[in-house]
Amino acid sequence: MYAKPDSTTMKSRVARAGDAMDAALKSLSYRSVEAEEGRVLPMMRNDNAPRAEAQAPEIAPEIAPEPASATRVPEGLALGRPSREEAEAAVRTLLRWAGDDPNREGLRDTPARVVKAYGQLFGGYDTDAEELLERVFEEVEGYSDIVLVRDIPFYSHCEHHMVPFMGLAHIAYYPTKGVVGLSKLARVVDTFARRLQTQETMTAQIADVIESILKPRGVAVLVEAEHLCMAMRGVQKAGVSTITSQFRGAFKNDPNEQVRFLTLVRGGKG
Ligand SMILES: [Zn+2]
Repeated sequence: MYAKPDSTTMKSRVARAGDAMDAALKSLSYRSVEAEEGRVLPMMRNDNAPRAEAQAPEIAPEIAPEPASATRVPEGLALGRPSREEAEAAVRTLLRWAGDDPNREGLRDTPARVVKAYGQLFGGYDTDAEELLERVFEEVEGYSDIVLVRDIPFYSHCEHHMVPFMGLAHIAYYPTKGVVGLSKLARVVDTFARRLQTQETMTAQIADVIESILKPRGVAVLVEAEHLCMAMRGVQKAGVSTITSQFRGAFKNDPNEQVRFLTLVRGGKG
């Protein structure tokens, strides 16, 4: 099992644009990946291999873009959840399917542990991201410049193989009627990450809910992640990141705003 994201170690900050921004723009090497309305195309970034752009198409078939909605309700929930006993029995079945003996000493308590762990790893199904933002809305008069929370760690599971993917989310918005508590943006990320996901859907869901509840002048979301289902199956080398982004409002309409966002995200990272 891996560590859960810990919001107390999150390096979040509110960033305001400064006059020194112009210098930073010159070192920017990011290119926009948003090709058309409502779609985000995956892009590869390999820190160990500069300019490995030719690899990009290989990642695309793995993750099929789908319509994203912040309020998507998993259909299975409408049928009711199985009991804990049923869930544990299912884990025992998978253990036997994998070729092991669920009754041997080391595995005896595993089904119970797995079911308990699922409660946390997939706890996002029990959280309403809209409610999260509504509940903690705070008026901050007079501040309408960019609010950026970056390096929000998350752990999710791909919906294709139920294998973890993890990374960092960066969120920016231009408030129109107030600023939400910064830790709540991290909880929004957690809410969507702790479900079966594609990175593209998660990126869009984060942007959707911020747009619909906070009604900002613009919102930008960048997610960079490593997918273990690719690393473990040997399709890609370890250390390869997939980057997805969503730009709404001012960030969508003005390329300079995208540059500003990306510069702030990359700022201080060398
Ligand atoms: Zn997968």
